[in-house]
Amino acid sequence: MENLEKAGLAVNYNKIPGTKPKSLPKRVHIWDETLRDGEQTPGVALTIDEKIEIAKKLDEVGTAIVAVGFPAVSEEEKKAVAAIAKEGLSKATVAAPARAVIPDMEACVEADVQEVPIFIATSDFRLKYQLRMTREEMLERLTECIEFGKEHGLIVDYIAEDATRSDMDFLCEAYRTAIDAGADKICIADTVGFVRPEVMKHITREIRENLWTKSKYKVPMAAHCHDDFGLATANTLAAIEEGVTYPHVCVNAYGERAGNAAFEEVVMALEELYGIDTGIETEKLYGLSKLVERHFVVPLPLHKAISGDNAFTHSSGIHSHGQLTHSMTYEPISPTLVGRRREFHLGKFVGRHFVEYLLKMGGVKATPEQAREITDRVKRTHEERKKSQSKVAFDKIKGELKDLMTGVSEREFWAIVFDVV
Ligand code: MN
Repeated sequence: MENLEKAGLAVNYNKIPGTKPKSLPKRVHIWDETLRDGEQTPGVALTIDEKIEIAKKLDEVGTAIVAVGFPAVSEEEKKAVAAIAKEGLSKATVAAPARAVIPDMEACVEADVQEVPIFIATSDFRLKYQLRMTREEMLERLTECIEFGKEHGLIVDYIAEDATRSDMDFLCEAYRTAIDAGADKICIADTVGFVRPEVMKHITREIRENLWTKSKYKVPMAAHCHDDFGLATANTLAAIEEGVTYPHVCVNAYGERAGNAAFEEVVMALEELYGIDTGIETEKLYGLSKLVERHFVVPLPLHKAISGDNAFTHSSGIHSHGQLTHSMTYEPISPTLVGRRREFHLGKFVGRHFVEYLLKMGGVKATPEQAREITDRVKRTHEERKKSQSKVAFDKIKGELKDLMTGVSEREFWAIVFDVV
């Protein structure tokens, strides 16, 4: 793209200064949640070895913070977190979250992690119905837990769960209380993926302007966005435009419900569209995606951005031929940038020019009539494929994938209940 820009043959509006807000940071640090929120993808359960392998890979690619699990969930989970903490990562910080209760904090201390993000909601309806406490009681709890963490020499962050549905004055009060108690970073959580990008910007700006005016409260901000409306990546980038430097991401966009902001999407958008350094070796992104997909046993959509099978595959004759004239014709970035190769799909939409190119590359001499015949046959093969057969196979694959999910079915659950009660 850069060569085209220099030659005056393409415009890159992403680079026009007016399209970049003043609060846009120069460096962003990737905070990965794949082994925590990501593992909460229904049907996923990782072994300790798998967790260690993924954590090491995340470290290798340049992730700043790796949330490796939730020690308070079970003894097994605590052991897994402790195993990764013991193994240690070369550059990344090993983090594990805690609810704002002392037993959760103790579990993190026992697991010997370096960083503990503490989460408790700030929205009034959750305080009333879920937590059953007043604002004051919540702030007291938060202070107690952060102080406990600091006394144990931990890096402590405060994640305001449901921040995007909270009263702004109280949200900022909660952040200030957390920082007063020693919190090193704060996090804005769009827990149910509820806001639009412009609103995420508004909320982040309000918090920044409220806190950063006093140097004491000028701590780094993180953002945790969910994909319930398909806006997780957009909202994460919106928050970064207003000064967030620690985006929470999950490899392949895995996570609770519709998932989280995708690691590979946030990183590539920052690097390529914003020109922001993320510290990530982008050529290793595809390897990371494949490793996580395999251990999660959750297949990626073929059309998934950056890491899906089709993300760099050209199908139509027009596109394939266009690619041969200039690589940027139908690609925003070179696939090698994320550790991939360009591919061409031969089927219904194939074109004669592309077939002729393949014949030339293969050193095959063919007359124009022969090239046309080859093109026609490729198209026909596609059209003649038995659609009903494909559908039967598809249903079978979907069914088998359901069987592979961990956890118990409703029937198995009631069998356990009747066995116990
Ligand atoms: Mn989450």
